[in-house]
Amino acid sequence: MTAIEPLELLAPLAGVLLSLDEVPDPVFASRMIGDGLCIDPTSQTLCAPLAGVISTIQDSGHAVSITADSGVQVLMHIGLDTVNLAGKGFTRLVEEGQRVEAGQPLIEFDADYVALHARSLLTLMLVVSGEPFSLLASGLVEAGQPLMEVSPVDTAEAAIDAQGDALFSKPLTLPNANGLHARPAAVLAQAAKGFNASIYLHKQTQSANAKSLVAIMALQTVQGDTLQVSAAGEEAAAAIQALVALLAEGCGEQVATVAAGIEPVASLPSAGVLQGVCASPGSAFGQVVQVAEPELDIVEHGTGQVAERAMLEQGLRAATEALQTLQAKAANAAEAEIFRAHQELLEDPTLLEQAYGLLAEGKSAAFAWKRATLATAELFLGLGNALLAERAADLADVGQRVLKLILGIQDRAWELPERAILIAEQLTPSQTASLDTHKVLGFVTVGGGATSHVAILARALGLPAICGVPAQVLALPDGQQVLLDADKGELHLQPNLADIEQLEAARQRQIQRREREMAQAALPSITRDGHHFEVTANVASLQEVEQALTLGGDGVGLLRSEFLYLDRNRAPSPQEQAGTYTAIARALGSERNLVVRTLDVGGDKPLAYVPMAAETNPFLGLRGIRLCLERPQLLREQMRAILACAGFARLHIMLPMVSLLSELHLARQILEEEALALGLEELPKLGIMVEVPSAALMADVFAPYVDFFSIGTNDLTQYTLAMDRDHPRLAGQADSFHPAVLRLIATTVKAAHAHGKWVGVCGALASEALAVPVLVGLGVDELSVSVPLIPTIKAAVRDLDLHGCQTLATHVLGLEGASQVREALRLYQATAVETSPVMEH
Ligand code: PEP
Ligand code: MG
Repeated sequence: MTAIEPLELLAPLAGVLLSLDEVPDPVFASRMIGDGLCIDPTSQTLCAPLAGVISTIQDSGHAVSITADSGVQVLMHIGLDTVNLAGKGFTRLVEEGQRVEAGQPLIEFDADYVALHARSLLTLMLVVSGEPFSLLASGLVEAGQPLMEVSPVDTAEAAIDAQGDALFSKPLTLPNANGLHARPAAVLAQAAKGFNASIYLHKQTQSANAKSLVAIMALQTVQGDTLQVSAAGEEAAAAIQALVALLAEGCGEQVATVAAGIEPVASLPSAGVLQGVCASPGSAFGQVVQVAEPELDIVEHGTGQVAERAMLEQGLRAATEALQTLQAKAANAAEAEIFRAHQELLEDPTLLEQAYGLLAEGKSAAFAWKRATLATAELFLGLGNALLAERAADLADVGQRVLKLILGIQDRAWELPERAILIAEQLTPSQTASLDTHKVLGFVTVGGGATSHVAILARALGLPAICGVPAQVLALPDGQQVLLDADKGELHLQPNLADIEQLEAARQRQIQRREREMAQAALPSITRDGHHFEVTANVASLQEVEQALTLGGDGVGLLRSEFLYLDRNRAPSPQEQAGTYTAIARALGSERNLVVRTLDVGGDKPLAYVPMAAETNPFLGLRGIRLCLERPQLLREQMRAILACAGFARLHIMLPMVSLLSELHLARQILEEEALALGLEELPKLGIMVEVPSAALMADVFAPYVDFFSIGTNDLTQYTLAMDRDHPRLAGQADSFHPAVLRLIATTVKAAHAHGKWVGVCGALASEALAVPVLVGLGVDELSVSVPLIPTIKAAVRDLDLHGCQTLATHVLGLEGASQVREALRLYQATAVETSPVMEH
């Protein structure tokens, strides 16, 4: 391409020049928005570095961009995180669309105010249209002094030059009623900037740099114009595909049916937002990295049964070893658990039997293994159970691991770019385990759900994730800049600067909050007016117990015992059970509570070795304590194993799904008989979960016979509101913040305290920082929460004042619905944060 007259840019401020590498903000330092430089200012009026038109100016007055006639676009951004100042400290002197001269004042700012209230005063000047530039100054600069030289490109000549090596789209007809005016032009330019390619839009003999808003507008297109896109460079083909699709769909505007002449690109997402559901909260701005498994070449027929069997066994052995290493190296308990479950699957006799049967028919090791894993996965999927469907995903993952080992295919080493947002049909634990998580900012998957492994891992890593996104997401080119707003379940394909800044600022605040919470995790959870609340952990393994202790957990408020024995074909031996409980109790020590919940299977939690007849309404059928009392031997054995750890920790036994007093009496009888048989002098504490409305409403009747209550808000919500806890369409309404659920908690607490018994909450409501003030206000004594959230919930308690929470609790019990409760709590949280002494540091 031929360069024309270079364009000189003047210093917009006086100050010290710095490289972008020195800017402590990954969005700017990574040059995602554009390359340029930074000034640490000593003056307070931002002036135009070049003549042109004001293409954008933020309402808040902290950022402005100018586009020159040549298409060069320069963005200036005063300070870091200044979007949060909402305009305070800034005075805009120009308007969008206004023509300005080089050196003309654009924004005045109060440097003292900004320095005091924002993260930094560092001011960015970025060439966002992407032209190359060279620096003309260094060190200290004066406002108006020549600063850099940009080499604009002659678009007409560039287009002609590009004919040789550029790719051209087919001609297309512009569908927009008013042509490419400002908004659709901005959408197109923004999308074009996401590609590492030089891209032009052509109309007859005119051409425009597709990354320049002004250049596109200058083409003065009208509806029905015939346009072409050309691109040269690394991502030329992807750019053309994406931009043609975007133009066909109106660049964010509503357009009539696809106009004649446009090559529709079916699977490519266009402008706007892709909607999924939140699998792990948070937000991130980063670049697309597509994760896809290679297609494997599998021949059907083997070379002889003996040789193929040896190959399969060798593959299984190598996979087992790899899984053991992964367990040992796992970053957290959740991940280790997953690989242990994978290892179990490799030993599944039915699966192996099927594979060996196929080998006997003359099939190859790879073919037999693939066919057997697929058949088993289909079986899991066909059972219509969410947990078993997740096992199907596990089977596919571990199946692929073995297949690659049989075929001698090396896993490719992950060379991730910085700030990666991983996109996949389904991200498998094997893929995520080998990732450099420092480079990953978030996950987006087409499949999976809130209980999928990627969701669990993302939550454990504290990274945002969404799932259930339309499959079009798989067509996004690598490197495209996207904004993931997991809280809203959205992936923004053309994020604007204001959105990026807001989310980035929120992310920074979240990181700082997390750091503060972690640093104070060991402090007790005592309210500001001196009331202590236990914050304990919900766990499903020894590793989680250890993690909970390092995060400041006061004990274990819920050991979901059934999870110790999932993914197995037979019940663990009594010795193994006793060993597991004892190891957990020892880790806790005699000063901490260990609340072991007896087997809670049925409903959403099947257990392979406790076969159950199919039920029309499994959640209303033989679940929890009902099932155990149907098979008392199972409960008896478990009680005996639990009692083996008495003395190592403050042992509590808790019965799930209790709805009738008789269930409590029967279970207590078994416990007493087993304790007697073991010669125990002191019985452990016995309590019930309150997760059925009848138990809450009759808490005063239960109270004399229990030592404690723990409220399972997950089930209590589904039974109170008559909404399946896993129903995808009811997820938004089956909300534990509903006053009906809160009233049942209040009833339980009142009855328990009247009898001197304590009450915990171990359902997911306790893990929500927003809910802590109301639970504390209702008088709950213990919050048992998901392990990674222990520091957050402890910090939330320390911010509270019990008296204020009690007033709040009385107020929300009288509200109409869950959203009103949430709103009231958000308001309370906002005012509490404003007055919190912690925040004033
Ligand atoms: C609950 O129902 O709130 C609970 C803690 O039990 P689970 O989620 O294991 O059913
Ligand atoms: Mg429950």
